[in-house]
Amino acid sequence: MTIDTHVHTWRCRHATGTVFEYIQEARRRGVIFLGFAEHLPLPSDLVAADPYARSYAMPESELALYASEVSAAKEEAGRHGLVVLLGVEADLHPGNEDHVRRLLASVEVDFVLGSVHYLDGWAFDDPDRVDGYDRWSAEDLWERYFDDLAHAARSGLADAIAHPDLIKKFGCRPKVPPDALYELFAEAVADAGVAVEISTAGLRKPCAELYPSQDLLRALRARKVPVTIGSDAHSPSEVAYAYDAAAAAARGAGYRSAVVFRNRLAEEVPL
Ligand SMILES: [Zn+2]
Ligand SMILES: [Zn+2]
Repeated sequence: MTIDTHVHTWRCRHATGTVFEYIQEARRRGVIFLGFAEHLPLPSDLVAADPYARSYAMPESELALYASEVSAAKEEAGRHGLVVLLGVEADLHPGNEDHVRRLLASVEVDFVLGSVHYLDGWAFDDPDRVDGYDRWSAEDLWERYFDDLAHAARSGLADAIAHPDLIKKFGCRPKVPPDALYELFAEAVADAGVAVEISTAGLRKPCAELYPSQDLLRALRARKVPVTIGSDAHSPSEVAYAYDAAAAAARGAGYRSAVVFRNRLAEEVPL
């Protein structure tokens, strides 16, 4: 049973493909749950201050349109055996919670993925901004990232935390395995009752492995943290990308099921 709870459309300005095109591709690949998780609009002051940010998320003026477009596609897709879910990927760096809360009050979504892409105003996952890594030691950077990620989990705004060790994207890694950081994060998500995404996007990036690493996944499993599976597709051709690898990693860590969220309630799907 293939699921993909993390895809982006053209609306975020750095992905391609319409809702319709994603659904067509998902049907071709036998996906049974397809979750749209468009980047929730960023605050206007951040967009004004950061010229890159205009292409990081859909504009606020399109949020309602996005929601109605995905919602309208549900019935037709359902007739073909595909459950379409309306989600968003929210930036939950410290200080952004009120903005996210305000936007979430204006739309009824099935699920919210919480992400950290920004550290002190630096979008560390943007390939055009990798020079920022020179300003940090890997140890400090990872510690700060996982602190913010644990904070995001505890915000109560997200149903699942997306691509949990995204900080490794370009190969920046601490010298010693960061087991203590994994424990800290696993404890935070377990306490908060939040799920974690296994993202296959990492396989397409320089780090060349799933987010999370198998060690982090084992720490999550030890605390019975549910997992969902997403491709983070930025074009329809990436729908359900390497799903089998994610499912195998989950099973290898001891999971027997994944979760999807409908109306912000988790439903189990066997792996
Ligand atoms: Zn994106
Ligand atoms: Zn993301």
